[in-house]
Amino acid sequence: MKLTKQQRTDLKMKFGGHCAYCGCELGDKWHADHIEAVKRDLEFIPGVGLRTTSEMLRPQNDTLENMNPACVPCNTNKSSMSLEMWRRSIEHYRDVQLLRDSTHARHLHRFGLIEIKSEPVVFFFEKYGASA
Ligand SMILES: [Zn+2]
Repeated sequence: MKLTKQQRTDLKMKFGGHCAYCGCELGDKWHADHIEAVKRDLEFIPGVGLRTTSEMLRPQNDTLENMNPACVPCNTNKSSMSLEMWRRSIEHYRDVQLLRDSTHARHLHRFGLIEIKSEPVVFFFEKYGASA
């Protein structure tokens, strides 16, 4: 759904102007994330590859109540995953992929310059307002 300017302003302030997920302060460029994805159809364009169409496979999820304000990196990474799937995906980056796939991260880890925390992944909106 196309949000009005007022709806976008209200949505941006849903968590005090912060990304619902990582908690960074939102600037001018941010996305209205569908918490439960609308899932868009894919089409193959020769010479380009797979692209999403504007066709929604779950249009019932296209409501303001199902939207969170998100920074571009969070929205892009979450893509059409559910919150729990995305949470597990982030844990997988930390527990499996980071030290396996990044030589730089392995060096920084060996030199004690980065620390990998095994704490649960908690989204900003889950703790927003809890200790204020
Ligand atoms: Zn974010």
